Amino acid sequence: MNADRTAWDRRSVVPVIPPIQRRKLAKVPFVELADGRLQGVVSSGSDIARVYVSSIAAKTHGFNCSTNNNRPCGGLGSRPCKHLVALATEAVLQYGFERVARYLGVEAGDGDSTGGDLIRVLKGGPESIPAATVFSRFLRHLAYLEVPATTEPIADLQWFPATGAVR
Ligand SMILES: [Zn+2]
Repeated sequence: MNADRTAWDRRSVVPVIPPIQRRKLAKVPFVELADGRLQGVVSSGSDIARVYVSSIAAKTHGFNCSTNNNRPCGGLGSRPCKHLVALATEAVLQYGFERVARYLGVEAGDGDSTGGDLIRVLKGGPESIPAATVFSRFLRHLAYLEVPATTEPIADLQWFPATGAVR
C-alpha cells in the first residue's frame, strides 16, 4: 500500500519514460458514495496524464472539480463541468439512478434517467471540496484492488501506467 503511494509521489515529480504503447484510459477509474458526497476520479479527455477529482455534496448539491494537484478545473463555472457529468454517468451505471438520487437528495427521475439528468437538477453551486482527500482514497482503492489474486484485468489499474507520461 505504502509502496504505491511512494511510487505515485515519485512519478509526480520525476520524469519517467513513457510506455511505448499507451493503454486506453478508463474514463472514470474511481467513483464512490462516501463522506456525504458522490465523488471520484475522472480522466482528462485531452491529456492522458491528467486526472480530475470531481465531487458533488449530498443535500446542498455543492460541487467541485480540480486536478489531483488541486488546480481548479478550467471547465467549471457556475454550472458543473463535463467531468462531473462523467462522474454522475458512471455512478448511475454502477449504483443505479435511484440509489444515487436518494443519496444526493435529488427528486427521483424515471427508469430512463441518466447521469446528465441528475446533473441538470442539482440546485447547488461551486463549493470548496478538498481533492487530496478523495485522491488518497482513490490510491487506497487501487492498493486494495492489487491485494486479491486475480487473473482478470482490472479496469481501474489501466489508469495507473499512464502516470508515466507526466510532462
Ligand atoms: Zn472538471
